[in-house]
Amino acid sequence: MMKRTISFAAALAFWSVAAFLVAAEPLRLNFQFAGVSEDQGAIVEKIVKQRVSERVASGELNLSYAIDLSFEPEEYSLETSGTDATLRAGSFPGLIFASGKLLRSLEYGADSFTVPELTIREKPDASFRCCYFARHFHNWYHMASNEELERYVEDLALWGFNAIATISVPVVNLNLDPASEDWRQAVDGVKTIRAASKRLGLSFTGLDCINQACLDMPEELKGTPNVDPKRGNNGINACPSKPGGTEYLDRLTRAIFASFDGAQTDFTCWWPFDEGGCECEQCGPWATNGFLKCAARYCKMVNDEFAPDQKFILSTWTYHEDEFEAVWEWVKDHPEVPYILADAHADFPKYPLEHALPEGHKLITFPEISMQGRFPWGGFGATPQPRRFTELWEQVRGHVDGCMLYSEGPFEDINKIIESGFYFRNESAEDSLREYARYELAGADPEDFVALCRDLEAILVLKDRNPEYTAAALDAMKLAVKIDLEIVPKLRDCWRWRQFYCRCLLEYERNVRGNENTQTCVDAILELQRLYHSDLFPEGCVDPLHYCTQPVLPQGDIGVFKRPEEEIQER
Ligand SMILES: [Zn+2]
Repeated sequence: MMKRTISFAAALAFWSVAAFLVAAEPLRLNFQFAGVSEDQGAIVEKIVKQRVSERVASGELNLSYAIDLSFEPEEYSLETSGTDATLRAGSFPGLIFASGKLLRSLEYGADSFTVPELTIREKPDASFRCCYFARHFHNWYHMASNEELERYVEDLALWGFNAIATISVPVVNLNLDPASEDWRQAVDGVKTIRAASKRLGLSFTGLDCINQACLDMPEELKGTPNVDPKRGNNGINACPSKPGGTEYLDRLTRAIFASFDGAQTDFTCWWPFDEGGCECEQCGPWATNGFLKCAARYCKMVNDEFAPDQKFILSTWTYHEDEFEAVWEWVKDHPEVPYILADAHADFPKYPLEHALPEGHKLITFPEISMQGRFPWGGFGATPQPRRFTELWEQVRGHVDGCMLYSEGPFEDINKIIESGFYFRNESAEDSLREYARYELAGADPEDFVALCRDLEAILVLKDRNPEYTAAALDAMKLAVKIDLEIVPKLRDCWRWRQFYCRCLLEYERNVRGNENTQTCVDAILELQRLYHSDLFPEGCVDPLHYCTQPVLPQGDIGVFKRPEEEIQER
């Protein structure tokens, strides 16, 4: 009897150890590379290992990568069999796109993943798939660490972006003194984003508001403000027609491009308005006259003096219908300008859709994915707008060869992915939402996430409480609680999901409870401030526009109510 008991205990111990061994089986990811440098192999290995280990603790995958020069540069293929995956592409970025597709195709469980049978070969539809980081106002792009910026650029590349852009030097906040600490810091920030892009083989664009001037510009050089309110009147704009005006802008342009000696951008995007523009008698109309003259002058200066291979993007943002024809003529003499950017605040302008650009030039868009209907931007968490962006995509599909997304921060991460799907493979917005959910919110039902995004888009204008939103806010909160229970444990606290969750809490308090002065709102806003780094705003710093990007705590007395999660259980 004693012996039997001992044997039973021994067997129990054996099975416990065996079960422990199975559960603790480590993640086994093996990599083979052909045709890429050792550094590139190491980059891909780190990216893939990091993403898989952030989701699960075990699983096996043998990845074989190769450059295949019979492929077009951005074309890739992905095949799986058992635990083997073969990834081929015409270039290094193509291998990153393939890695992204593979990562998003794995089926993640609570502990491990399985590899589905895959046979994919594709190449992107559009040639320029770019995200512009609006790096200002002490927003996330401004405050993020170098590692965070690098990581975010990797994430976008995994989704198929092949270009990153940011403001070249934010001269609006600086004196014209390239030796100053402020100028140097601004340039270093751009170089960080450039380096993060170039290490992945992505192209990098600097945006330059062509006649924008520095803080210390002599008053007598000031330009005449724009008359169309849609074009804005921010910054300090110089008039190139005034005596000394062109000399000033020459000096400034040389200072900017000299700051990037050895680290020039691939493209410069000349920007006409908002920061930029002069409607004096000689410069006006700026869109068809002064701006085009400046663009011709500074394309030549940059190519002659700084970067012979640099290409340019000419922006026609907020142009009127009768102003495009002059650009279509102008660009015939400018082979160094392969892309013309067009867009508006709302519907896409008609002229660029009805008149093809001269041969050798392509049209790109400037989707505004950040600010629509919300203030402060990112002040309420995630802002999905699949319906709106689908409508805008329908207007331009078939006419454009790329985009430069206007991004103010990671709160619209999901909108970047929707746009990426449009420009890479004409994917529907809802299919992109499903793919995002399977990967970023692995474990949750993708259809719940699609429904959640529909609810959040329905509640668009956050400042105007509307009784109709109550049902959507209640439904969103229920879906958020369900997703939160189902998401794989390791992803539950990831920033992408938390910003959706906080948004649902805030909509519940606002639209269901009808009271934003609650501890739930305070907690959610504090969490968003941490996620968006607005809690890092430097003490004593003057930034008059920081409030545009800062989630705001409720004012006045704060009440403590039941948490929305508990209340919906009772409903
Ligand atoms: Zn002028």
